[in-house]
Amino acid sequence: MDHLSVDDTQKMFIYVSNQLIESKERLCEIDGKIGDGDHGFGIERGFLAVKEKLSCHSYETINQIFKDIGMVMLRSMGGASGVIFSSMFLGGSSLPVVEKLDTESLALFMREGLEKVKAQGKAKLGDKTMVDAYEPAVIALEENKLSGLEAALKQALLAAEDGVNNTKQYQAKYGRAKFLFERSIGEQDAGATTVSLIFKAMHDYISAKLTLKID
Ligand code: ADP
Ligand code: MG
Repeated sequence: MDHLSVDDTQKMFIYVSNQLIESKERLCEIDGKIGDGDHGFGIERGFLAVKEKLSCHSYETINQIFKDIGMVMLRSMGGASGVIFSSMFLGGSSLPVVEKLDTESLALFMREGLEKVKAQGKAKLGDKTMVDAYEPAVIALEENKLSGLEAALKQALLAAEDGVNNTKQYQAKYGRAKFLFERSIGEQDAGATTVSLIFKAMHDYISAKLTLKID
C-alpha cells in the first residue's frame, strides 16, 4: 500500500488510540521503576480524548487530523508530558496541505513533530527520553521514503524498538528519573516505549489492512 486516504488515516489513529489505551498498565509499570508511575494514566487520558475526537469528526486533510490529535492531547494530558507528546502531532500540522498519507508525507510530519519535541523539551539522543525512540524512527522513515507505508513503518518501528532498548544503558537527564542519577541506568524509558507502541500500532493497522482487508 503506498498511501492512506484521509478517512483511513483517521481510522488508523483510532486504532493507535485503542492500542495505547490498552497499554496503560504496562506504561505505568515501566514509569514506576524510575519515575512516578503515572505515564500510562497520562497516555490513557490523552488517547481516550483523541479517540473521542476522531470518532465524531470528519476531516478533509491529514493536517487537520494531526492538529486535532495534538490539541486534544495537550488539553487532556496536561503537564510536561502533555506538551512533549502533543508536539509529536502539532509539529507538522502547519505543513502545506496534505490529502493523502504516503511514506514521504508521514516522514515530513514526523520530522516536524520531532523538531518541535526537541525545541520544547531540549532532550537529545542519549538523554533517556522519548527522543531516543522517536529520532531513529523518523530517520528510518526518511531513509525508506520511496518504500510503501507498511515496509517503511516496519523499519521505523524496529528502529524505535532498538531505541527503547538503548535507553536501558543511559542515565536520565530529564523528567523525574534524572533525580536518580546513575541509578536510572538499567531500566527502559517509559516515554520511549510509548513512541515505539505508536509506531507499532500504525504499522499493524496498515499491515492488517493489507492482509485482512479490514476497514
Ligand atoms: P512525568 O515525568 O511528569 O511524570 P510522564 O510520566 O507522563 O510525565 O512522562 C515521562 C516521559 O516523558 C519520560 O519517560 C520521557 O520519555 C518523557 N520526557 C520527559 N522529559 C522530557 C523532555 N525534556 N524531552 C523529551 N521527553 C521527555
Ligand atoms: Mg511519570
